[in-house]
Order: sequence, then structure tokens, then C-alpha cells
Amino acid sequence: MLRQYELVDRVLSYDPDADEALLNRAYVFSMQRHGTQKRASGDPYFSHPIEVAGILTDLKLDDETIATAILHDTIEDTLTTREEIEKIFGDNVSRLVDGVTKLSKIEAQTESQRAAENLRKFLLAMSDDIRVLLVKLADRLHNMRTLHFIKNEEKRRRIAKETMDIYAPLAERIGMYEFMREMQTLAFQHLEPEAYASITKRLEQLQGDGGDRIAKIGSGLKLLLSRAGLEVEVSGREKHPYSIWRKMAERHISFEQLSDIMAFRVITEDTDACYRALGIIHQRWPMVPGRFKDFISTPKRNGYKSLHTTIIHAGDTRIEVQIRSKAMHAQAEFGLAAHWAYKQKGQSDGQAGWIRDLLEILETADNAEELLEHTRMAMYQDRIFAFTPKGELYQLPKGATPVDFAYAVHTDLGDQTVGAKVNGRVVPLRTQLQNGDQVQILKSKGQEPQPGWLNYAVTGKARAAIRRYVRQKEREETIALGRKIYDEIALRLPAQLGTEALGNALKRLRIADEATLMESIARQRISDTELMEALMPGSTGGDVAGAHAPAQREAISIKGLTPGVAFNLAECCHPVRGDRIVGLRRPNEGIEVHTIDCETLSDGGADADWIDLAWGGKADSSTARLNIVVKNEPGALAVMAGIFGTHKANILNLRLENRDSSFHSFMVDLEVKDVHHLMRILAALRAADAVSRAERV
Ligand code: MN
Repeated sequence: MLRQYELVDRVLSYDPDADEALLNRAYVFSMQRHGTQKRASGDPYFSHPIEVAGILTDLKLDDETIATAILHDTIEDTLTTREEIEKIFGDNVSRLVDGVTKLSKIEAQTESQRAAENLRKFLLAMSDDIRVLLVKLADRLHNMRTLHFIKNEEKRRRIAKETMDIYAPLAERIGMYEFMREMQTLAFQHLEPEAYASITKRLEQLQGDGGDRIAKIGSGLKLLLSRAGLEVEVSGREKHPYSIWRKMAERHISFEQLSDIMAFRVITEDTDACYRALGIIHQRWPMVPGRFKDFISTPKRNGYKSLHTTIIHAGDTRIEVQIRSKAMHAQAEFGLAAHWAYKQKGQSDGQAGWIRDLLEILETADNAEELLEHTRMAMYQDRIFAFTPKGELYQLPKGATPVDFAYAVHTDLGDQTVGAKVNGRVVPLRTQLQNGDQVQILKSKGQEPQPGWLNYAVTGKARAAIRRYVRQKEREETIALGRKIYDEIALRLPAQLGTEALGNALKRLRIADEATLMESIARQRISDTELMEALMPGSTGGDVAGAHAPAQREAISIKGLTPGVAFNLAECCHPVRGDRIVGLRRPNEGIEVHTIDCETLSDGGADADWIDLAWGGKADSSTARLNIVVKNEPGALAVMAGIFGTHKANILNLRLENRDSSFHSFMVDLEVKDVHHLMRILAALRAADAVSRAERV
């Protein structure tokens, strides 16, 4: 355990202005409060906060953060109150300690209770001072280092899993790779003790076989580069057991097949030397295609910079080489904390400098979302493993469906999914997969991702692919619809349009291209009058519209357009193929399709633009909503279901609305081919003895 003066000296070594008295007070206060409490290891409890503080001095953190680390368990584990801390250590420290305490409380809740919402609130609340998170990460790291002292295996596993799912990703997110790696290695050791033991053992064997291969390859690299006049440091290592294991799981390969288990790091003086070193290495050994990454010209979002490449060394061994400058290296190990310490040595901007940088990263909307998405998933959903018919293993979050599975295998497979067999049986796509399921995806070239899949796909990969497709499709269909409306508007003009008219109209309306114009028309972003004026200036003044058009204009056909994409079928009247339909067009919204006799048209349709629509062609099916009242007698429901069956109409939804001693009233959503199909079904229902009433809603 660090002694009082050692800890203070460490802080003073990088910050001569640190408040020595504050640190001393915190040390003594914490020691007294924790008193005779013991850790699972048998050490005095007090050793824990001191070690946590020690970890944070490696990051060269300010005196308030170090004091917070020393005090971080006093509110939680002793009788100390926040008010006391505030009185003795001031506002900042008490706020920070309180933050760490709250985070620990969320952690202490059982897994099922721990609401993602709490974590989200906490992260947001805490993001005005990132130091809370740094103390929490150091706290967790020290607890992981001493995890083996905990006797209860279940507890060990829970803590290790939480570390893997929440804290290691958090450390990675803010660029603290050294923290992340150590947490992963320790967590892996407890979560997969057998895998850890066997990988470690094989690594040792390899060491034995190859002697000091790493040292030899490393000094070879250094020699090669120094001959070219480059001053570099080279270090080599075997990859961490956890990253080896993950690679084996991801690529479904065995340890023997894993060829690149050695990694080297070349640290140069500056950026220029990085690229020169890369050139020299690539000239000497062939690179493995597809493995080169330039994170210097395109840094990762957490600020990480480095060149990554994999080469084939001595004809048979793949080795990974990372090349970076000293400054980049410091940042890669300890995140922006180190970046700041390195860059601003001797400057007086104070600690706030890098904290601001870090906050910016956390606050960037999509990053924060991603972070939350990740942590939320990890917290709520255990993983399941599912197999392809060939026995390849895929890891998915719990709740994943065949759609997620298909996208996990390949995006193309996901796009073309039409159905799935789980353990040999055809199941609905919304079925949640269970651990160990064997999943066979049924595909068809003509299939396209369905918007409805978003209701049950859970993986980010699947959801992103579906959304991307739906957006693209929406644009295409909106443009197609806009074009139909455009043609119809053109007919209302007093004369035929010339060939130049469209081009001129685009210029007048300042719209970049035809597609955007069509989209704007469908979305009602420009009015019909505006468009007509642009196409033919002066055309809307008199009452001569449509002079050249046929007397009976045809309704615009919605054939080939997908409900829910370019237009929506109204919820109030559930139009069915065959119904006379009208579209309501409101600015910036899609088109809402109603039946001609829908009450919405007479009530609220006034503010919208009406367009005459027709179904056109042959569509697959549509949904009709029925209200059916059957007698309360045995078998009545079977009669109703039997009628749907003989007419080959699918029940999409069925709800018991009302029941009394003599009648049951149902709401049924039925998939029908067209209005004639529906009429036949209604007639059959009304003819049945058990049915007392049947009508469309
Ligand atoms: Mn602690």
C-alpha cells in the first residue's frame, strides 16, 4: 500500500501546485473512517481507496480527483455523509464523491432492476465532470485486480461480466486502452477460466518451442529501421489471451489456425517517421491485404492514432505491426488524459483542457447514443449462441430473431430473407432464438428488407441495414409518386408543355434536379399552383386550366408503391384493394389514403390537398378491420375461424372487445386479396348461424 507521503509526492511530481493539505486531510479522514474494515483479501479496507488513487496518479490527475479517489467509498461504506465531506473538503470534492457513490448504487442493484434509464440519467448528469467516471474506472480496475480473493463464484462472475460489458467498453470509448486491456484480461480469466488456462498454456508452449522469437523479430525490426536512419523503439508481445480468444470465436477458427498471435509496436519520434518506417517494413516483407489501416490520417473517434499493418515475416509467420509516434503512443495508452499531459506540460490551462476534449467526445450526439446503446444492450441482454446448418457459431444478444441471425451471417443474406427454419421447423421471423438453436435462413433473390422487421430485429447491424433500405426505398417511391402527380398537374395546364419547360421550371424554383422536384411535389413542399406557374408562367391566372386535357382524367395509380413507405393507409377506414380511394396530401407529410366515404374526408380533410387515387394492377393483399359478434355458445369461435380458413384469409390480429352472457364481440384484422374477397367472407359470416353480426369497421 502507498504511504501517505509517497502518494503526495507522486502528485507533486507532476503538479507542483497541488493542494498538499487537501491530500493529507483526505488520507487521514479516509483511514479513520474505514477503521478496521477489511477487504476480502484480508487487507485493511483502506488499502483499496489508496490503490485507486495510486492508479489515477499514473494518469497525472489533479488533486481534487486524487482526493475523491481516496474518499470514494466513505459515503457508501461508512457513516460519513455528503455534508461532512462538503464541510471538510469543499464543494468540488463532495460533488465528485457523491457522483461516484451514486454510480456504485446503480451497480449494486440486481441485474433485473438496474434500469438503463438510470444509467443514462447518470451518465448525462455526470458528464459535466468526467472525473467521476475516471475514478469509477480506476475503482473497478483495482477491484478486478483483487477479484480472485472473493470466494463466491457467482459474485465473481457477475462482477467480471459487468466489467466486460460495461466498464471495458467505457474505457475504450474514452481511449484508455491500457485500462480496457487489463480489465478484459482479468474479466476473461474469471468468465472463461478453462479457455483462459488453455490459451495461456499454449502460448507458453509456443514460447518454449520458438525460444525468444519475439525478441529476435523485434531486434530485427529495430535494426532494419535504424539502418535507414530511423530512431525507434520496438516492443513485441504476444496478443492478450482475451483478444486471441475473441478472434477464435469471431472467425470460427482453432488456435492452430490462428497465425498472427504476435504483435509489435514501433514508436517513432514524429509522424513523418511513422510513414517512413511503414514504407521500409512493407518493402522488406509482404503485407497481408486488407489489414492495413491508417488511423493517423483518419483517427478513431476517441482520438486514437496509429498505423496498423500485418506482414508475413520470414515467409510463414503473420505478425501485426503498429507504428506510432511517442505522442500518439502516450495517448493510446491513457487516452486523452495522457494526450493532455504530454501536450500541455508546463502550460497553465489547468486540468480543464483535456476534460473539455473528453467531454466533447462524450457529448457528440451519436457517440453518446452508441455508448448508451451498447451499455444498455450489455446490461439487459445476455448473449445467446446459434448455429448455421454447417455448424458455424454466431453470438447474438438475447431476444435476437432469425432476421438478426441472417444479417449477422451476411448483409446480403439478411436482405434476401423470406423465412427461417429453427431446428428444422419453419418459424415466423419474429421468433426469438434460444441458446443452441440451429438456424437455417430461407432466401429468395427477389426479396427486399421489410420495414416491419424493425419491430423485432434487435442487433444494430440488422436495424441499420433495414433502416438504410427503407429510407432509400422511401425516396424512390416518393419520387415515383411525385412523377405521377406531376403528370397529372401538367394536364391541368392550358397547353401542352414544351421540352424545355421542366428544365426552366427547375431553375425558377431553384431546385437542383428532377428527382428532388418530384420528391418535393409528393411531399407537398411546393404547391400545385407554384409548380404550374414555374412550368408555364401566367398559366394559373385565368380559368382555362386543363384545356388540352382529356375530359375524363384518370386517377393516379398507387400500383407498385408500398403501404407505409410512400403512402400510409388510413387507420380510420382501413382501405382495402377495390375500395374507391382518395389521397390526402399535407405539406411535408406523406400521402394518407382513405376510402371515398370515410368520415375523415368530410371532417378534417379540408386543410389537405385531395388527389384521386386508384389501386392499379394487382397487389398482394391488404388489411381489413372487421367487427364480428358471435353467439356465446360452444364452437362459435371455431365457426368464425373456419370461414376465414375456407376463404384463405389470414387473421393478423384478433381481440375480444366485449362479452356478456349471450354474445361475444370481436375486432379482427384480416388479410384479404381485395374488396370482393372481403365481401364473400362477410356474406359467409352473416350466413352462419353462430354469427349474429359482421361488418367492416
Ligand atoms: Mn471502491
